[in-house]
Order: sequence, then structure tokens, then C-alpha cells
Amino acid sequence: MLPPIARRFVAGETPATALEHARECNDRDIGAILNLLGEHYEDPTAADDDARAYAALLADLGGTDLDACISVKPTQIGLDVSEARFRDNLRGIVDAADEYDRFVWIDMEDHTTTDATLDAFEEFVEARGGGLGVCLQANLKRTRGDLERFRDVPGKIRLVKGAYDEPPAIAYKSRERINEVYQEHLEYLFEHYEGGIALGSHDPVMIDRARELHAEHDTDFEIQMLMGVREDAQEDLAREYEVYQYAPYGGKWLSYFYRRMMERKENAGFALRAILGR
Ligand code: FAD
Repeated sequence: MLPPIARRFVAGETPATALEHARECNDRDIGAILNLLGEHYEDPTAADDDARAYAALLADLGGTDLDACISVKPTQIGLDVSEARFRDNLRGIVDAADEYDRFVWIDMEDHTTTDATLDAFEEFVEARGGGLGVCLQANLKRTRGDLERFRDVPGKIRLVKGAYDEPPAIAYKSRERINEVYQEHLEYLFEHYEGGIALGSHDPVMIDRARELHAEHDTDFEIQMLMGVREDAQEDLAREYEVYQYAPYGGKWLSYFYRRMMERKENAGFALRAILGR
């Protein structure tokens, strides 16, 4: 059972609770990006099960008027088993998304998965003519080249700073440099990109830069933040811009919840207060 303390970051354990959460987001003018928690499956059955669960979730969403889509991790749907498995499962998800007219995001994992993820994104988004987005990470030195590669592709790009601890040969390591590069990439996106830009960040500096670039170039963009993080800001921003909340759900919530707790001491304090009942 999901303890009350984890409910700040996780939208319950079932598709029904995820849909309920999406409704609550929509009531605040915020769209929902639903993510079934799970990653790095080496067992093909587990990967196939989660792919089927996503297809079922898309069918559930299809029967509603919710402003909600999904975000999938490649190693959750078979990339650690084989590239062929990943693509077969992604195909099933994209077919369901077509049937129920829903958008699919592909999360980006560590650098060993980047090529396979981007190749699949490119192939599927070209075939679908849109309806798909992928995450690119500013900490990876290769990302400028990837942005250029996808300039004319009809999909969306979610730009994030990058959550994985990558080797210095291929990644920027200092926070300052990553922030600088993030803004350079934002500039590139706002100047050249028409497929759709998503700013995946809680950082007020990055958000202000996107506001300026939007005023300058009039390029559409959306802001994406995680459930439980800067919720007030999400609501404020939603009065002016399109805001989506990334909301994870499912039985495998413990490691995700632990990561959220550990990334900021304020969150650790929140956990402690909840445990002490204050
Ligand atoms: P940080 O650089 O961590 O912090 C900058 C500033 O933002 C802080 O000084 C503070 O002002 C504010 N801030 C940040 N966090 C908080 C907080 N918890 N509470 C209050 N203020 C805060 N990474 C991947 O590698 N692959 C993905 O597919 C991926 N998808 C993502 C999807 C979404 C919607 C989001 C929001 C992030 C995703 N990430 C992903 C994670 C991302 O790479 C970063 O690790 C994460 O967002 C932290 O960077 P930041 O830009 O939010 O802010």
C-alpha cells in the first residue's frame, strides 16, 4: 500500500488512481503525463506486461475527455532484453496511441540507451507524422547534434538537464556548465524548432529564459514538472502557459520515492516531519 507520505510524488498504484490524479491536474488547468513506474527489465515477460499495461491505460484514457498522455522508459519495455523487443513493444504502444488519439513521450535513460532510443523515436515519429516526443539531456555533449538531427522531424522535444551520472568524456559535469548549455539549447529550439518544445525543468532561471525566448520568437512551448515539485508554481504558470505534470504511478514506487526524497534536503525534512506526525 502506498503510504500517505509517498502520495505527494506518486499518483497511486493503479491505472484508476492515475486517471483520478490526471482529473485533479486538469481541474487546475494542468495536463498530465502518466508514467507507469518500472525500468531495466531483463525479463522479457515483465517488459511485455508493462507495454500491455500502457496500451490498456491508453484505452482507458481514450474513453475520457482527460488532457493526459503517457511517458515510457525504453528499458521498461524491453531495451535491456533486445532492441527488437523494445521496438516491438513501442509499436504496440504507438498503435494504441493512434487508436485512442493520445500522445506518447519517450523518456531518456543513461547514455548507453541514447542511440537506440533516438533511432526508434525517429522511425516511429516519421511513420506516425507526429504524436510522439522524446527527451534530450543537456548534460550530454552530443545533444546539440541530436537537436540538429531532429530539427525537421514532426515530434516534440523535452529538454531536461539530465538525471544520470555520466562519464566526463561524454558529459558536462559542472552545474554551471549544464545550466549554460541548457540555455543554449533552449535558444536553438526556440529559433529553429517547430515540432513542439517542452521545458522539463523546475528551475526558475530556465523558465524565465524560456519566457523571454517565447516573447522574442513566438514559438509555442510547454512546461513540464514532476508531481509534488513546485506545485504552486505549476498552477501559477498554467495561467499563462501550457503546463504538464509528469505523474508516476504503480507498485514500484519505493525507489522513485526514495530518489525524490534524497535529491533535496527540504524533501528529506518533509519526510521526517511526516514520519514524526508534525
Ligand atoms: P535543478 O537543476 O535540480 O535545480 C535548479 C533550481 O530549480 C533549484 O535551485 C530550485 O530553484 C528549483 N528546484 C529544483 N528542484 C526543486 C524542488 N524539488 N523543489 C523546489 N525547487 C526546485 N531526466 C532524464 O535524464 N531523463 C528524462 O526522461 C527526464 N524526464 C523528466 C521529465 C520531467 C517532466 C522533469 C521535470 C524532469 C525530467 N528529468 C529527466 C530530470 C531532469 O533531468 C533533472 O534531473 C531534474 O529535473 C532536476 O533538474 P531541474 O532543471 O528541475 O532543476
